Amino acid sequence: MAGAVRPSEPVRGARGSATRLVGVTVRVRFAPSPTGLFHVGGARSALQNWVYARQHGGTFVLRIEDTDATRNRPEWTDGIIEALAWIGIERGGYEGPRFQSDNAAHHAAAARQLHASGNAYYCDCTRDDVLARRGNRYAGYDGFCRDRGLGPGPGTALRFRTPREGVTRVVDLVRGEPTFENAQIEDFVIARANGSAVFLLANVVDDSVMGITHVIRAEEHLPNTPKQQLLWAALGLKPPTWAHVPVVVNAKRQKLSKRRDKVALEAYRDEGYLADAMRNYLMLLGWAPSGDREIVPWSVVEEEFRLEAVNPSPAFFDEKKLRAFNGEYIRALPVADFIAACQPWLTGTATIPAPPWRPEAYDPAVFATLAPLAQTRVAVLSEIVANVDFAFLDEPPADPAAWAKGMKAGARELLDAVVAAFAECPWTAAALKADLLAAGEARGLKLGKAQAPVRVAVTGRTVGLPLFESLEVLGRERTLARLRGAIDRLPS
Ligand code: GLU
Repeated sequence: MAGAVRPSEPVRGARGSATRLVGVTVRVRFAPSPTGLFHVGGARSALQNWVYARQHGGTFVLRIEDTDATRNRPEWTDGIIEALAWIGIERGGYEGPRFQSDNAAHHAAAARQLHASGNAYYCDCTRDDVLARRGNRYAGYDGFCRDRGLGPGPGTALRFRTPREGVTRVVDLVRGEPTFENAQIEDFVIARANGSAVFLLANVVDDSVMGITHVIRAEEHLPNTPKQQLLWAALGLKPPTWAHVPVVVNAKRQKLSKRRDKVALEAYRDEGYLADAMRNYLMLLGWAPSGDREIVPWSVVEEEFRLEAVNPSPAFFDEKKLRAFNGEYIRALPVADFIAACQPWLTGTATIPAPPWRPEAYDPAVFATLAPLAQTRVAVLSEIVANVDFAFLDEPPADPAAWAKGMKAGARELLDAVVAAFAECPWTAAALKADLLAAGEARGLKLGKAQAPVRVAVTGRTVGLPLFESLEVLGRERTLARLRGAIDRLPS
């Protein structure tokens, strides 16, 4: 096997800007299989590839690995392209999409070459055959057909002749130089009986045909890497530099799974996460900018990100933290942008509509007065409706649980006093607050406790926007009508 190729020496560019590789035109690729929604772990890998390419004046190739005809659907490819664009990897800024299926002739040629050079052999063993020879314990293929000199035929796959001795060392920018014992690597299948290449070979051939210099991908593929590097060498090619970025896990340290966890980038987008918050957060999976910062402009990511600084340990995808991030990004928006970003939910065009809501009730002028208040409270844009609907609907939304929580003993008397005070006072947040404070104090209630029944009566909820400013927007007439309506519903 040819020795592993070391990455070219990085040199520091002017004024501490990203390092550039001398004499290497960097070409990276993101190579998703279009088999479902776009996994956040995939989005993270895509962004890292993107940043790496930009830092080195290189090219990012989007390659769709579409050779599994049973699982691929063209709409998933469209979804990948859209989702990439959403996080800032826009069509036109990269090469492709290129399709693995277009390279079938190259895959077949590589398989022929490996056979002709003695690096691969045909094998007609079934799994049961191997099991029978091994006393029913499958511990990899046993090499039975290595020297049988079989030719192609039905039921005959092509296997790689893995060297029995020595080690395969890979150069990995995240993990150093992991070393694998060749004796532990079975003679693996590279082409099926129908002649089509399996992932291991197709992926190598595509990377070679596309001139890929750096393979930045998820840790899940690390076990494939020695096999792939052996293939590169057997094909007489110089392998790429590898970078296996950490597996993404949930709070229980389990690998994020489609069935168990919310993993689809589209789900976050449709719920009202901002693309800027999302991509900032994704870049922090295993990496951090300088100076204890986490929320940073994208330009800082592009300046400071280093694959060599990525922590190889599993990266925790912390949805709570992402939410908090998103809230910060929302608060940093100019109000006009916040108003615009909320429109899909308010006008009922969002992919995930907010139930129960009547978009016909929406009034942009009223929303303009509430938006600055809402902007401080909303962590995810889809929450906007629940925060402001009280101002648009004729009646506050009915929520029995909120009602029970807000309307404790004595609520009726308190509301009676509040109605009397609110009927007279100047209609400003400060005056409303002073009156409620006084009504509460007269009954031994602190402001928080005194607010609860008023909030439920007026907004139908136990939490929401700052109350007195909300009442100011709602106006005296509607506020009093709601308070009186609540009093009528309460037992005397
Ligand atoms: N299609 C493979 C995947 O989605 C790509 C593997 C690679 O990046 O080499 O996992």
